[in-house]
Amino acid sequence: MAAPRPPRLDAAAEEVAATARAAPDWAALAGAARGCLACPELAGARQHVVVGDVPASGRPRLALVGEAPGATEDETGRPFVGRSGALLDQLLAEAGLDRAQAAVLNVVKCRPPGNRTPKAPEVTRCSGWLHRQLELLDPPAVVALGLSAAKWFLGPRTVLAAARGRAHDVDGRAVWATYHPSAAIRFGPNGAPRAGLLEDLRAVAGTLR
Ligand code: SF4
Repeated sequence: MAAPRPPRLDAAAEEVAATARAAPDWAALAGAARGCLACPELAGARQHVVVGDVPASGRPRLALVGEAPGATEDETGRPFVGRSGALLDQLLAEAGLDRAQAAVLNVVKCRPPGNRTPKAPEVTRCSGWLHRQLELLDPPAVVALGLSAAKWFLGPRTVLAAARGRAHDVDGRAVWATYHPSAAIRFGPNGAPRAGLLEDLRAVAGTLR
């Protein structure tokens, strides 16, 4: 499947995309992203731009992509380190996946105030960073955590329940869509999202062995 047609870019999104494309490596991209002011509301409220985690060396076998940073991520500058991150780490380990071998990213790099869903223009602007991150890291497999990330990869009409459980070919990458760990927390340890997330991570692990 080809990548979905990108939305029309405004001037700020064009600038982000051009700056990201010019970054020759991860360090240059991270440095540029940390100074990004493309979304005035988010830039004015954030403590950190949460650029993402990458393995210390080598090409990641997997990229985990969430929606946006939460409060703990904004405080620390690292992705998936709050309650959702703790559960993600636990389920990755249960599935036989090593977070240290994965890139951990978000669609939007700055925390939306009050943890609201990112607005469409914010997603569009921040997409330039994520596109370049995927180019530079070139992970063969991606897990989109939650509906926002799933829509970013698979298109705006994506229904999570229909999309999960199999790999989608997006620009030569195997993209899996599954629940966000926050849904697994919300529905509890016996809820369907936790079981579904673990099942999907196990399926991904099976393809990477
Ligand atoms: S959310 Fe993304 S595009 Fe918007 S200010 Fe933060 S880094 Fe820039």
